[in-house]
Amino acid sequence: MADRVAGKVAIVTGGASGIGRACSLRLAEEGAEVVVTDIQDGAGKDVVAEIERSGGDASFLHHDVTSEDEWVAVVAGVVERFERLDVLVNNAGIGIGASIIEMSLADWQRQQAINLDGVFLGIKHCIPPMRDTGGGSIVNMSSVAGLKGSARLAAYNATKGGVRLLTKGVALESAQNRWNVRVNSVHPGIIDTPIWETVVPGSLRPDGEPIDVSAMAETAVPTGVLGQPTDIANGVLFLASDDSSYITGTELVIDAGLSA
Ligand code: NAD
Repeated sequence: MADRVAGKVAIVTGGASGIGRACSLRLAEEGAEVVVTDIQDGAGKDVVAEIERSGGDASFLHHDVTSEDEWVAVVAGVVERFERLDVLVNNAGIGIGASIIEMSLADWQRQQAINLDGVFLGIKHCIPPMRDTGGGSIVNMSSVAGLKGSARLAAYNATKGGVRLLTKGVALESAQNRWNVRVNSVHPGIIDTPIWETVVPGSLRPDGEPIDVSAMAETAVPTGVLGQPTDIANGVLFLASDDSSYITGTELVIDAGLSA
C-alpha cells in the first residue's frame, strides 16, 4: 500500500469489470476509500472483496448511470457516510459497433444514455459536494474513438467525442467559479477487457467474423502491444491525485501511439 490518494473518497462507475475494476483496485492500493458502482452486483462485490483482501477500503453500490434518481441516491449515500467526495471516475460505458445506416434508434439512444448522459449526470451531482468540501477531481473515460473516427463505430465516436468536449467545458466553468474541481478526460487505445465481447459479435467487421482483439492490436498499435486495464488505471490515478493539481480541461491519451 502506498498513499498517493490517501484519505480521498472516490466513486468509480462501471467498477465491476475491465478498466473500472483496475481503477478501483489501483485507487484503493494507493489509499483511497473506493465506492465501486455498477449494474453488475455480483462482480462489483467481488472487486470490493478483492480490495479488502489486499488491506484496502471499499464498498459497492448498485448504480445504473443512466438514472438520475440512482445518481442522487449514490451521492447522498457517499456524503452521508464519509462527509466528503474527492474523486469521480466516470468510467461506465458500452460499445455498439454497427453500420450507421443499419443502427436502430434504440441502440443509438442506449449508447448515448450510458456513455454521455451518464457522464453528464455524474458531473452534475458530484460537483456540488466536491466543491463544498474543498474541491476534487473528475476523470471522464473517453477513448481514442473520441479523438478520431472509426468506420462502424460512428455512434460510439459521437458519445466519446461528446465526453471530450463536455469535459473541457465543465473544466472551464469550474475554474471560472473557483470550485476547485479539476475535470479531465482519459483516452484509452485498444485495451484487453470484456467490452470487446459485448460489442455485438462481428459488428465491427462487415464480414461478420468475430473480433480478435490481440490480433487487432498487433496490426493497429504502433508498438504491437495490447493494452491492459492497469495501463489506464495508472493514468486515472495520476489525474485523481494531487500530483496533477495544475491539470484541468485536458486529455490524457494512453494508447501506445495508436493516435499519433
Ligand atoms: P467493460 O465492459 O469491461 O466494463 C464496463 C462496465 O460498465 C461493466 O462493468 C458494465 O457492467 C458497466 N456498465 C454498463 N452499463 C452500465 C450502466 N448503465 N450503469 C452502470 N454501469 C454500467 O469495458 P471496459 O473496456 O472496461 O470499458 C470501460 C470504459 O472504457 C468505457 O467507457 C469504454 O468505452 C472505455 N474504453 C474502453 C476501451 C477498451 O479497449 N477496452 C478503449 C477505449 C475506451
